Amino acid sequence: MSVDLARYREFLAKVDSKFSGIQTRQSARMACAGGCHACCVPGLAVFRIERENLAAHVRGTPGLAEKLAALEAADPHAGARCAFLDETGRCAVYPARPLVCRSHGAPLFSSAPSPGEPPLLDACPLNFTDLGTLAEVPASDFINLDTANAILVALNLEIDVTGERFALNAATILGR
Ligand code: SF4
Ligand code: SF4
Repeated sequence: MSVDLARYREFLAKVDSKFSGIQTRQSARMACAGGCHACCVPGLAVFRIERENLAAHVRGTPGLAEKLAALEAADPHAGARCAFLDETGRCAVYPARPLVCRSHGAPLFSSAPSPGEPPLLDACPLNFTDLGTLAEVPASDFINLDTANAILVALNLEIDVTGERFALNAATILGR
């Protein structure tokens, strides 16, 4: 199946831009940097459109499929990290990483799980060591997960009405 990934990639670029602005304004508290990978946990799953983008990136990058296969065999983090985290602690698919990897680290807003309850405010504890201080962060410095996930679901719906999720590993992404 040929999939038009242009609008999905535009969406990712907007998320990156939003994250970058937040990181600049919240630089005193945000420590996200290359080599920090506590958030790269195993067991993440992605929608089909994210899988298609990852697969296109791997197929379009010489040697990357082989690198991912070698990583999988070596398992440098003994199963404690995402299969795409390399032995140096960096993401081997960074340009095509999915939404969850681009939003994590910023203050995150989700609407209340039930009527009458407060909205959920969250952040990586390595960045915001006192989550109680999140209430002091301006609303503009949160990524709204309700909105971001709704856009992702809408984009995915154009190619997959089932909402199927795929494990974040080379075999699943490349359909081996
Ligand atoms: S895809 Fe990359 S950024 Fe996302 S969890 Fe895996 S290693 Fe980390
Ligand atoms: S979100 Fe947390 S664990 Fe992930 S890179 Fe940022 S500081 Fe490190």
